[in-house]
Amino acid sequence: MKNKSIVFKLTFWVSLILTAAVAITFLAVRLSCGAVLHGTIKSYVITTVEENAEKISIVSAPRDTAANVYLPLDEGYLEIDLDFMDVTNGVYTALYSAQGALLYGEDPLAALSPPELTATRIVEKKVNGVSYELFEMKIDTDAQQLWIRGAAPESESAQRLKQITGISLFMLPALIVLAVLSGVALIHNLLSPLSDVERAAGQISRGEDLGRRINSRRGDEIGRLSDSLDRMLDRLERSFETERRFTSDASHELRTPTSVILAQADYTLEKPRTDGEYREALEVIKKQGERMSALIDDMLSYTRLEQREKGENMQPLDLSSLCEEICSQCAIIGEKGITLECDVQPGVFVNGDRLMLSRLLTNLISNAYRYGKQDGHIRVRLEGRELSVADDGIGIAESELEKIFDRFYRSDSARSGGGAGLGLSIVKKIAELHGAEVSVKSAVGEGSIFTVKFPPL
Ligand code: ADP
Repeated sequence: MKNKSIVFKLTFWVSLILTAAVAITFLAVRLSCGAVLHGTIKSYVITTVEENAEKISIVSAPRDTAANVYLPLDEGYLEIDLDFMDVTNGVYTALYSAQGALLYGEDPLAALSPPELTATRIVEKKVNGVSYELFEMKIDTDAQQLWIRGAAPESESAQRLKQITGISLFMLPALIVLAVLSGVALIHNLLSPLSDVERAAGQISRGEDLGRRINSRRGDEIGRLSDSLDRMLDRLERSFETERRFTSDASHELRTPTSVILAQADYTLEKPRTDGEYREALEVIKKQGERMSALIDDMLSYTRLEQREKGENMQPLDLSSLCEEICSQCAIIGEKGITLECDVQPGVFVNGDRLMLSRLLTNLISNAYRYGKQDGHIRVRLEGRELSVADDGIGIAESELEKIFDRFYRSDSARSGGGAGLGLSIVKKIAELHGAEVSVKSAVGEGSIFTVKFPPL
């Protein structure tokens, strides 16, 4: 049972429960039908006797022989309406004298004769193995005392119960079969999308098609589950793709300095060189080594940032003093005669990570130096929740503005700049982790301004 399909299990249990429910209902119906029929037969007997009693009277002489039957008594006549029912609805009725002599009507209880004539309430009597519901009623007239008796054989109610049982025994199994069949069809219909999910998951896990989706288009729970799985697969596929691109970009980026180092070494070792040539070769190798080391540092930082959750290890920190600190460290660089100006509003606090925010600002400032013009200016500004770094350097073409935050992206004009193209991806990632937004405005030849907007505390 454990390894059976859900459809099988549901069908099995639904059939079992339905059969049990139908069996219990059948028993209950049979029992209550028995009781109701019994009660009905009893009240039939009583009403028939009472109705017939009204159709009898004692008269001194026959009046209307067409509508009545007249039986002579000691004094006068017994007038019996022709409507007097001997046998109706299985109830036999008969009229007796006070002494118990049968005067009129059918008497299936002749064996009991002379009648006891005491049963003023309904009683059960057994005659020749057949049970009868019996009711007797005294009719007091001035002239004479009479008894009227009603009796219904039990076979009457048993007969009806048998009919009901017969119909039920035929109908109920048919009903079970019908209910089980429609239940199975319904279960099958409802659960069939699960098979699609299973098939799609199987194809994906066998590596046949990572782009495969369930596409359920249903509005119910299974549809929502499939949509969630599809969304999860989208994310997984995207992150696989990103990882793949990252690895390929990283190896591509490392290949250039490695090739330069190897080529330089091969060239230098071809023949004996002068001290000056060796020194020159080593300078080239050192520069490429430094580039590789910076690239590896950036890649490690980026990977670590990728693994962090938004808001993780954040605490309120004084962004104003952090900016002041970084600015004074960076101002020492003094590359290309560029001056760094710092305009910081004091007392600005954000929820953040000190190390990450230092990295964010350092990256923006070092880009401003790298892409700044000779004797240019850099302006770091912190006002309210906005931190910006502006320069008057080479600027960025409109078509590139969207791409500069991509990993390993470098504009053609920046290729020779020495950066690996990870600086702004790191800035963007750090901003995301702080719930902040980075934006850039730039004009070629005029300069750029990068702005980071922090969320309220
Ligand atoms: P890189 O290591 O090349 O600087 P970044 O991710 O920091 O990588 O920057 C990506 C690209 O964005 C750079 O190659 C450059 O073209 C452009 N860029 C970044 N900052 C500036 C800036 N302040 N002025 C002009 N261009 C910039």
